[in-house]
Amino acid sequence: MKNDRTDAPPPGSERVYQGLGVAPGIALGTAWVSDDTAPSTPEYLIEPEAVAAELQRLKEAVAFAAKQLRKLKVKAQALPPAAAEELGYLLDARLQMLAGSRLIRTAEKLITELRLNAEAAVRATIAEISDGFSRMNDAYLAARGDDVREVGERLIRCLMATPYVALKHLPEGSILIAADLTPADTALLDPKLVLGFATEQGGKESHTAIMARSLGVPAILGIADLVTVLKTGDPIILDGHAGKLIVHPTPETRAQYEAGEAALKQERKRLSRLRDVPGVTLDGFTIGLNVNLELPRDLDGAHTVGAEGVGLLRTEFLYMNRDAAPDEDEQYEFLRAVIEGMDGRPVTVRTIDVGGDKLAPALREQIGEPLEESPNPALGVRGVRLSLAHPRLFDTQLAAILRAAAHGPIRILLPMISQISEVHAAREAVERVYKRLKRRKVPLPEKLPPLGVMIEVPGAALSADGLAAVSDFFAIGTNDLTMYTLAIDRGDERVAALYEPLHPAVLRLIQFTVEAGLRYRIPVSICGEIAGDPRFTPLLLGLGVRELSMSAPKLPSVKERVRALSLTEASRRARTIMDQADAKRIGELLDDFIANLGSHSV
Ligand code: PEP
Ligand code: MG
Repeated sequence: MKNDRTDAPPPGSERVYQGLGVAPGIALGTAWVSDDTAPSTPEYLIEPEAVAAELQRLKEAVAFAAKQLRKLKVKAQALPPAAAEELGYLLDARLQMLAGSRLIRTAEKLITELRLNAEAAVRATIAEISDGFSRMNDAYLAARGDDVREVGERLIRCLMATPYVALKHLPEGSILIAADLTPADTALLDPKLVLGFATEQGGKESHTAIMARSLGVPAILGIADLVTVLKTGDPIILDGHAGKLIVHPTPETRAQYEAGEAALKQERKRLSRLRDVPGVTLDGFTIGLNVNLELPRDLDGAHTVGAEGVGLLRTEFLYMNRDAAPDEDEQYEFLRAVIEGMDGRPVTVRTIDVGGDKLAPALREQIGEPLEESPNPALGVRGVRLSLAHPRLFDTQLAAILRAAAHGPIRILLPMISQISEVHAAREAVERVYKRLKRRKVPLPEKLPPLGVMIEVPGAALSADGLAAVSDFFAIGTNDLTMYTLAIDRGDERVAALYEPLHPAVLRLIQFTVEAGLRYRIPVSICGEIAGDPRFTPLLLGLGVRELSMSAPKLPSVKERVRALSLTEASRRARTIMDQADAKRIGELLDDFIANLGSHSV
């Protein structure tokens, strides 16, 4: 839901903006506003020996921009003839500009002679050429200036498909303010420099929100017009729990939040005592409590909270924020570092799950079509569909996983499964790659690692029996399962209020999946965001789930909840809940159950 400002007092006095609090914590700092409409072009000097690579980068961006324009030309043919002709001329002129015009030649010269990075070189060239045109005071020539600007901006966007340079260099103590942040952008934020962030767009279970939680960076999404009303340097307080952003706080407000921050620290300290105690219910049932990992730096968090394993390693983040996809050796080293970092505790490696809101431009070379151009990315070539459609990409990743499995226990997890045939095809690929590596005498585990499937598509949940018969384990991805069941985009703030994992339809799909797992005696875990929310713990356990995987900062409070409840009681309450038709009533029953739990934490 887009939220409006609560008031509009004069600038300089305290103002409060309300949004979706997606990652808890309090940040007191200074706004750093990223103006997304005119992306700040990174500008830096390159080393003399990097000039050739920079020219190559420009060349690739030119080729990619030309490909985009040619595609537009094909699309233009569907227009009425007069419009198609007009647009065709325009696109031809722009294509010609990419084929060695003054724009490109000057940019190349600036890279070679001034050793400017490609983005800055193009930006400087646009300014020079279009200024010249506009000074001529002629409507036709002014339009040519616009063409140069359009083509130049397109080139910069292609060069900056990975905007990693700008976000890596935020000043210490910043609170980042942006219209939107992609999950890839978020992965670049250094929690030591960035105290928090707030954006205009994004839903509670978007990957941007998930990334914020796992970085432990307080965040608010969905505040309308933020980028327009805030200025870099404004003093602000971000309350990621309440979803409140306070600009120019008064000394009283500041003191109040400083006290709140101190209380939070105390609470974290209290929960840290749970690190070494087991996740066992009052009536003696052991619950597996694992972490979700996106980046190797999250490993520290996993140890701090005493995780028993990695229940979900989102490998797609390894493919983001870079120009070329990682090769087999790099992937192997990455996985090996995670496995060794977990000291023999099992690591569930999910094969690449790009698509939807997770994009990895570095894959363009291998997959051809840019994924973002899919008519409906959430329903398009994503997850396992992409892997199966590009066997070289898949085989490379599987080879890296199998080699890494020689260093410790690994499970392979397939994302976005909707058909049994996909599991068969993936298993064949695993076996094929295993045999090939074995022939080459590459060190491998003796047995093939277990192969499991994500249950995150309603069709998969409804055919859980069939899938259980061909899988070694299930991981229920309730983030996507909720989105697809209710037709609510998890990343759209305008429908965030309708995104409800307690909807009986979602709960029935979870129940159905858990029961299929029990019948086929395969482990079933939940690795969607509800696994890390203690409000859901009694219900999930009551439905038969015995393994949860969540971002590390969430684990202590979930463990505390596990230790405070009786599984027998939770199962009884779950039965009552499953008779309800209304999510609101389900929430009330759950909250009532929780309110009556004792606190038997440590
Ligand atoms: C899910 O969909 O619940 C899940 C865990 O996968 P992701 O959030 O990466 O889509
Ligand atoms: Mg998912």
